Amino acid sequence: MMLGFLLARAGVPVVVLEKHADFLRDFRGDTVHPSTLEMMHELGLLDEFLKLPHSQVDHVSMQIGADIITIGDFSTLPVHCKFIALMPQWDFLNFLARHGKRYPAFDLRMKAEATDLIEEDGRVVGLRAKTAGDELMIRADLVVGCDGRHSTLRERAGFKVDDIGAPMDVMWFRLPRNESDGNEVVGHIESGRMLVMLDRNDYWQCAFVIPKGSADDVRSRGLDKFRATVGDMAPFDVGARLGDIKSWDDVKLLTVAVDRLRRWYKSGLICIGDAAHAMSPIGGVGINLAIQDAVAAANILAGPLRNGAVTVETLRAIQQRREFPTRFTQRVQITLQNNLIGPALQGIGKRPRAPLLMKMLQWPLLRRIPGRVLALGVRPEHIRTPEAV
Ligand SMILES: Cc1cc2nc3c(=O)[nH]c(=O)nc-3n(C[C@H](O)[C@H](O)[C@H](O)COP(=O)(O)OP(=O)(O)OC[C@H]3O[C@@H](n4cnc5c(N)ncnc54)[C@H](O)[C@@H]3O)c2cc1C
Repeated sequence: MMLGFLLARAGVPVVVLEKHADFLRDFRGDTVHPSTLEMMHELGLLDEFLKLPHSQVDHVSMQIGADIITIGDFSTLPVHCKFIALMPQWDFLNFLARHGKRYPAFDLRMKAEATDLIEEDGRVVGLRAKTAGDELMIRADLVVGCDGRHSTLRERAGFKVDDIGAPMDVMWFRLPRNESDGNEVVGHIESGRMLVMLDRNDYWQCAFVIPKGSADDVRSRGLDKFRATVGDMAPFDVGARLGDIKSWDDVKLLTVAVDRLRRWYKSGLICIGDAAHAMSPIGGVGINLAIQDAVAAANILAGPLRNGAVTVETLRAIQQRREFPTRFTQRVQITLQNNLIGPALQGIGKRPRAPLLMKMLQWPLLRRIPGRVLALGVRPEHIRTPEAV
């Protein structure tokens, strides 16, 4: 959506396909980081964007065993928004769609599912899509696979996926929020269990992190046991509110995947976002990396698309630009998964402790570093595509 919006804004005709009728899916990439908010500022849309319902998180702390560690302090960031905005992803997407529709070059088709690529002489020249009524064939100078972590287009292209793996899955649910609740600590890691609670103004979005593949075990131990564990882990008394988890239908499972394409492109096709690299949920970076990919892609593609001159070299430049931030971020996530979260989830009886490096990063001058990396990422992008007049 972001790439479609930016290209249409730059005067390049774009068709955006979305297989669903709407964007209403709960517990999705709701963590809009300062890097993404800065893009909204660069587009002149920030004030309007911040009028959408959201909550703001200006620092992130975790309780690891007995240690309380600040992972992100955003107060000194050199950007307009020194906070993470927690906003439903459907609001964000509807906002972009609404602004995209201001441009005649923007054509959003809902309930249109890409099913296959059209290739001629070794080059992708378009795709087939299924709509409510019939099948569609769309010819295009470039197809961009941004169809998420189960991407049909990357599979049809035969791209090789390196599966990096993750030791955990996440069970998501909501609890009502009281005014008196603190929000100093968002996460709590204990031996054998981990809970993250995100402040969504009138409710808590809760993530109960479990060892990979153990959701059936958790369910078989029963809902009462699950509620009791959550009550025990929460940083304040959630007592009676646990009754809001009425059945397992209220607890949604996210099977965590971390992977990366070796090559993101071939002649006439490129993948970006989750289709090129599914991220671990650590840090809530997935949506923000996808936005950074979209901005980088628009910056590189707008000129060549207007001139009808997108080559394999143009597409390679996009992967070269975005591969390092992806690899770096996944490396940090894997290090935390393997050295902290995985052992903690498995380590019955042992009390997890914050790694020494994390403790060192609490010193006042060093404390800015993790906050900056989390909020802005590495190699932050800027909007370079002009608005066509
Ligand atoms: C349960 C869950 C919770 C998450 N929580 C967070 C979080 O808190 N913070 C965070 O940063 N990230 C989170 N993520 C990851 C985040 O949602 C993704 O990293 C981000 O949305 C990637 O954006 P994308 O545009 O690449 O892919 P997606 O957001 O997956 O978008 C792909 C879109 O393509 C559509 N689509 C799929 N196939 C087709 C097709 N064949 N034809 C047409 N349309 C198609 C899908 O319906 C979807 O709308 C979460 C993911 C999940 C699954």
